This record gives sequence, structure tokens and C-alpha cells, in this order.
Amino acid sequence: MGKTERHRTMILWTAFIPITALFFIVYFDKINVISRGKKSAFKIDDQNTLKATKREVKLTLLSLSMFAAIGLVMDICLKAGYGAIYNDYHFGLLETLYLIASFFIALAMHDLYFYATHRLLHSKLFFNRVHAVHHKSHNPNAWSAFSFHPIEGLFQIGILPLIFFFLPIHSFVFGLFTILLLFISVYGHCGYELRPNKVAAFHMFNTSLHHYQHHQFVRYNFGLYLNTWDKLFKSNYPKYEESFEKLRDTINAANRAQ
Ligand SMILES: [Zn+2]
Ligand SMILES: [Zn+2]
Repeated sequence: MGKTERHRTMILWTAFIPITALFFIVYFDKINVISRGKKSAFKIDDQNTLKATKREVKLTLLSLSMFAAIGLVMDICLKAGYGAIYNDYHFGLLETLYLIASFFIALAMHDLYFYATHRLLHSKLFFNRVHAVHHKSHNPNAWSAFSFHPIEGLFQIGILPLIFFFLPIHSFVFGLFTILLLFISVYGHCGYELRPNKVAAFHMFNTSLHHYQHHQFVRYNFGLYLNTWDKLFKSNYPKYEESFEKLRDTINAANRAQ
């Protein structure tokens, strides 16, 4: 990496992670206003105002500062020549195939990491001391996504340095992965079920309702991207599929009436 390139990357992750997270929070927080009220029909819980509390905003700003700090550590390491991340733009067939594969490897690593650490956060050791802070949001909204105890912040964002140091990954792919991670985190908390008519093949992916039920019932639905882990460890809310279908019908009826 040349001197100029190193210099340019110095603030890349420090700024990119918190700014992207904030962008998705504001977007999902205002999604109903942006769509001129069309999203009200997609609300998971009619009674829910989806208004963020001061506590959620404060804790989110603390988490975003922590994300910036982790980004700064990665930027400093990049400058010093550490990390598995690479910046080569000359691709052959194998390099291109690996580029695509590395994105899915990162997602798979994160999906398993999230499920395992989330179960750990629900253990006696961590729940009352750490994770209960996130669970104070019973009816989550966009600002609940990163409203957590600083120790949980380390758990949640920890996947980025893990991949950064151990998985050879192109900086462009790492950026895409970071965007998807932050997007899904806010999407899962936004309080709207935006994919009520998903095709059967997409049942393998989790929905906003899935994580909403985690905040409601606490003991179920620990997964992030795929429903696989909750299925495998029998931790899906027993009425998840049934309530999804019910919600889908309510949303579709409300949409028809609009
Ligand atoms: Zn939890
Ligand atoms: Zn949550």
C-alpha cells in the first residue's frame, strides 16, 4: 500500500461505521414520514408509538462512539500494516470467485457469532449485568438497535475486528459486509414488518417480527440473518410462523383498505 493510500484509509473505518449506523437509524426512524404515511399499515404492533426514549438515544450515541473507536483501532492497524484486509484491484477468475465467497464466509461467521454471543448474553452471568439494558426496549424502534450496555457493544461490534484480523477480505467486501450488518441490526428493530409477502424460499431468513418477539418474550428467537440456528437449537418462539401469517394478513388487509 502506498503512502497516500495509507493516509486516506486513516479515517475510513473510524468514520464509516458510526455514520452508516446513524444513517440507517434515521432512515428507519423516519421511514413512515419518507413514505408519506404508507408504512403505517406495516407496523408490527398497533399500540406502539415507535418513539425513541432519551435512554435509547443516549446509549446509542455511546455505542456509536464505541464503533468509531473500534474503527480507529482498525485504521491504526492498517496504517501499521496489520490486519487480513487487502486493497488489490487486479482480479483474475480465482480472485473474483474468492471475493464473492469471502462475503458469504463473513456473513456465515457473523451469523454463528451473533447466535452464540446472544445466547451467552442471556446466561446468568451476563443477562442482569449487561444484556437487560437492551431488553428494556420491549417494543423496539430504530433507536433500540444499538441501545445497549458498553460491554454488549464490544460483543456486537467485535465481529468486525475478528474478521478484519483473521479473514483475508477485500476492503470493498468488508465495507459491504459492514453496511449489511448495520442495516439488518436496525431493520430488525424498526417496528415494521416490511416483507410480509416474502416468498416461501425466504422463510430461511429472519424477519422484523422475529426480533420483535425476542424483545417481547425474551426466551426465544436469538438469531440474526438465518432462522437455521433457532431451528437447530429449538429456540424459535413456538407461534412464530403462525403469528407471521396472521400479521401478513392484517398488513395486506390494511394495505387493500388504504
Ligand atoms: Zn436478547
Ligand atoms: Zn434487540
